[in-house]
Amino acid sequence: MNDDDTRRALDLLTEVERALAGIRCQATTDCCRFAVTGREPWLTAVEWRLLVAELRRQGRRLPEPNDDEDGRCPFLDARGRCQVYAARPLGCRTFFCERATPPAPHASEFRAAARALAELSEGGGAVGDDGKSRPITSWLAAERRPTPSARGRARARGRAGR
Ligand code: SF4
Repeated sequence: MNDDDTRRALDLLTEVERALAGIRCQATTDCCRFAVTGREPWLTAVEWRLLVAELRRQGRRLPEPNDDEDGRCPFLDARGRCQVYAARPLGCRTFFCERATPPAPHASEFRAAARALAELSEGGGAVGDDGKSRPITSWLAAERRPTPSARGRARARGRAGR
């Protein structure tokens, strides 16, 4: 996966956005509260990279995972806004909601886009390069997990402090 792949992924997501133009959302953010819906968006690697790049563009760090009772997405800010709205993944754009007017097409209508995102994610040896989707909280946990070299540096700092 390279920069062209991430640009292509953003183009794909923008096309999906166009297909959904005119559908009005009540912006309750219920779909960003995973304990309310009982599910969370699953992302391919290329979607996760887009999301991280958007955070970096804004000069933000990855959020802490949270254990709020409503299971709020870690990317939902205190004002109830998505911090990565411009780069939000397919699942967040196509979430089926009965309250949308007119009713949004079901996510299954966007299978071709989902397949294309999976293909763009394939190749390389990093996590997710198998093209498979993972829950957003799982991507966040994996990204925040210290790498072996970071663990080594932390241990060295601990020894130096003794
Ligand atoms: S990434 Fe944004 S739109 Fe998607 S669940 Fe999280 S806060 Fe909501």
